[in-house]
Amino acid sequence: MEKMRAMILSECAAIETKPLKLSEIDKHEIQRPNEVLLKIEACGVCHSQLHGIEGDWKDIGIPPTLPTVPGHEVVGKVVQVGDKVTKFKIGDRAGITPLLEACKECQYCKEGKEYLCESSTITGESLKGGYTEYITVTEDFATKIPDDMKPEYAAPLFCAGITAYKAVKAVEPKSHKKIGIFGIGVVGHMAVQFAKVENCDVIAFSRTQSHLDVAKRLGAIDTMTFSENQEDFLSKLKEKHGMLDAAIVFAPADIVTDTAIKAVKKGGLIVIATVGENPSFMAFEEKTIRGTLIGSTKDMEEVIKICSEKDIEVISQTFPLESANEVLKKLKDSEIEARAVLIP
Ligand SMILES: [Zn+2]
Ligand SMILES: [Zn+2]
Repeated sequence: MEKMRAMILSECAAIETKPLKLSEIDKHEIQRPNEVLLKIEACGVCHSQLHGIEGDWKDIGIPPTLPTVPGHEVVGKVVQVGDKVTKFKIGDRAGITPLLEACKECQYCKEGKEYLCESSTITGESLKGGYTEYITVTEDFATKIPDDMKPEYAAPLFCAGITAYKAVKAVEPKSHKKIGIFGIGVVGHMAVQFAKVENCDVIAFSRTQSHLDVAKRLGAIDTMTFSENQEDFLSKLKEKHGMLDAAIVFAPADIVTDTAIKAVKKGGLIVIATVGENPSFMAFEEKTIRGTLIGSTKDMEEVIKICSEKDIEVISQTFPLESANEVLKKLKDSEIEARAVLIP
């Protein structure tokens, strides 16, 4: 059997102990006629991998099994196709989101919300992950990417990008709708641009000045430093801009979510794209709080289309596959500004 290099997690542990081991494992092979085999060109390093690897999410069943090959922002080249594959031919390029597969038969799948499927398989929670050289996927869960799209540009679109796009879609964007985006990291900087494509007036909030500068450069009409002094923050915001029509929260802090809810006008919409405590809000103000999670294959196709047509900027930085432990450690220490992308 042919082998491939992979960064394998056999036991959850602090990233300082370098829990990912470079190993040679069996190369994936096409098992079903609707699968394609990708030679991986790049895989993004998502913050969720840090939690999975360190065991923070054991309580919620992540990772569901060990060993795993982490990584769920995968792009590569199709090097082999199953007999029944029609969407791809050898030489095409494709990407995979965290949703490796869904049942295609349940209500969610039929409604085009396959990311909510109860019997889905998640990329990077088995030996099928992106921190390696090859992966197989059924054609319906792979999305074509253009030949001229760089791997380190394309990879972050498959989790961060689709999350940003779906959150903007959830906020019901329209021309000059005043949308606050709370948290301008990897996901937030793309959301600013997707909202801009919809002609929204974006106001960006972050604790970090360099993030605010990025948001401004990418089209936010204004930026404000986020402050935990809620009263002070809200009064400054009202003075400058009045209340927001809507808000999107990417920063994983309950104080941010609470502030975002209070910054939105009555009847407004708050989209929460992060984990945290259940927020409290005043029913009589008729605000809507909406959650969001990645997106469908159709959404992913839209993301690729918008990114190739509208020149969306993706800030990324590449590292060799073997440095996954060090990259994750840097991520833990907030030493990585852009999306880190591993190249096998
Ligand atoms: Zn992710
Ligand atoms: Zn399903």
